[in-house]
Amino acid sequence: MWVLRWMEECGEEKAVVYSYLLSALMALGGREGGRARSDMVGEILMMVFKLKRQGCGVGFLWAPAHVGVEGKRTVDKAARASLGGDMVEVGVPFGRMECRNIINERLIQQWQQEWNEDARGRKLYDIHPIIKPGIIVSLSWIDEIKWTRLRLGHCGLASELVLVGKHRDGKCEHCGVPESVKHVLLFCPRYVGERRMLFTGLPKLGIETFSLRTLLGDGLNPKERALEIIHFLKSTGLHRRI
Ligand SMILES: [Zn+2]
Repeated sequence: MWVLRWMEECGEEKAVVYSYLLSALMALGGREGGRARSDMVGEILMMVFKLKRQGCGVGFLWAPAHVGVEGKRTVDKAARASLGGDMVEVGVPFGRMECRNIINERLIQQWQQEWNEDARGRKLYDIHPIIKPGIIVSLSWIDEIKWTRLRLGHCGLASELVLVGKHRDGKCEHCGVPESVKHVLLFCPRYVGERRMLFTGLPKLGIETFSLRTLLGDGLNPKERALEIIHFLKSTGLHRRI
């Protein structure tokens, strides 16, 4: 920017600006995918346009950094010494895009901290501990409901029904322990045959260890994994109760 301003003041007719910052040059060429400082890029392009209208041709060329060039350290040291300090400090305010990214990042951090410390939603926290966009698995309407209930842990199993007075003790009729999603998916001996079938199919999807997080979390092959688990629910009769 300063170079362009200097060219405008001096009235140069032709100039080439060399830079070792390839990413900056790519941003000026519109090839940085929106990650660059759009405000500064826009300002520079406006300045180039203005210079061209005044008859000044401006070109940009990439000059690769001096990595590996003999004497680079000596030259850098001498240049810094001439400035009387170790660093050149230039105050450049954040652009709008950078401000938005910083605010988003801080909000996510705050949200993550609250999610870590909250006493509520711990069943979902066990399988989804990191705040990030959820994965849409695109199942049928009814299967998506069952899938969401499994992940939230709020369903028609005994341990949930007892909370609303719809079950006498919340325990599995087969083995006498609380009947939760974790119990029916991983432990209940009543579904051992169907579970063996499920656990035989999951390694083909890259799932080698079995826990609520690997079964219901945002891991590998979410749709195919969800379909396998829905099939388990249907084969055990749990699909109606979830
Ligand atoms: Zn059981």
